Amino acid sequence: SKVPPITLNNGVEMPQLGFGVWQVPDDEAEKAVGLALEAGYRSIDTAAIYGNEEGTGRAIANSGVARQELFVTTKLWNSEQGYDSTLRAFDASLEKLGLEYVDLYLIHWPVPAKDAYVDTYKAFEKILADGRARAIGVSNFLPEHLDRLAEATSVVPAVNQIELHPHLQQAASREYHAQHGIATEAWSPLGQGKGLLEVPAVVAVARKHGRTPAQIVLRWHLQLGNVVIPKSVTPSRIEENIDVFGFTLDDEDMAAIGALNEDRRLGADPAAFNG
Ligand code: NAD
Repeated sequence: SKVPPITLNNGVEMPQLGFGVWQVPDDEAEKAVGLALEAGYRSIDTAAIYGNEEGTGRAIANSGVARQELFVTTKLWNSEQGYDSTLRAFDASLEKLGLEYVDLYLIHWPVPAKDAYVDTYKAFEKILADGRARAIGVSNFLPEHLDRLAEATSVVPAVNQIELHPHLQQAASREYHAQHGIATEAWSPLGQGKGLLEVPAVVAVARKHGRTPAQIVLRWHLQLGNVVIPKSVTPSRIEENIDVFGFTLDDEDMAAIGALNEDRRLGADPAAFNG
């Protein structure tokens, strides 16, 4: 494979780079995921709320890539949190994807005001035990939410997928994950392409390596150990974003990108997001 794997805390291997499909309409997802699979991506990140599990599933079915070579992630939406509703929502996601199992199932947001993520996670443990997900984890969980899970449940999440890019480097979460054996997966790894890719420090490192700013930012993540899931529907960018394994940033480059942290979120604050 083009993309080296990381090993999750239960021994399952996950490609360190995958393809995200947020905001890709269902009828375009089939084409975009198909292009990504042709370009060599083997990990796909979708979610029930994205409304494109069916298009994603069609692309997988038509790709000719063997199921065991793929790593498919989907996520439980907030409105479905709770033990029984989670089991039902998981069945619906599998059905839409046309799969018999997913590789990774994530709780999309903690939704602290609902106070249901512990029961939700217990349903995830059942799904894992039944072999219908190869790994389970969470998304947008703060250390306090992970502490609560650790007190009330038995399976350590394999992954926490959080907003992470050079403007929001998430030092505290990354440290917590490292101490607890949880892989850090970066969502919006390119900062949604908004501004970050024009920052002079990023552009300078790109010129130095004869690479694009997007490739530099992805390389920075990979060298820190983050899993990344960049999104694009543009064929040339889909190819560019996976072509990041033939060069290395040096300490000076890493420090230049590392100096860009502003603790600035593009998305919601997990402590307050109850939508
Ligand atoms: P991203 O950081 O991947 O940026 C994507 C955007 O950057 C594209 O729409 C395009 O405008 C631009 N872009 C992509 N490749 C480029 C290139 N090579 N050159 C120039 N511009 C380029 O943002 P994202 O889509 O928000 O995040 C990636 C994935 O993370 C999503 O698709 C989704 O799977 C996941 N995600 C998860 C959550 C969550 O709550 N768990 C939230 C947001 C996103």
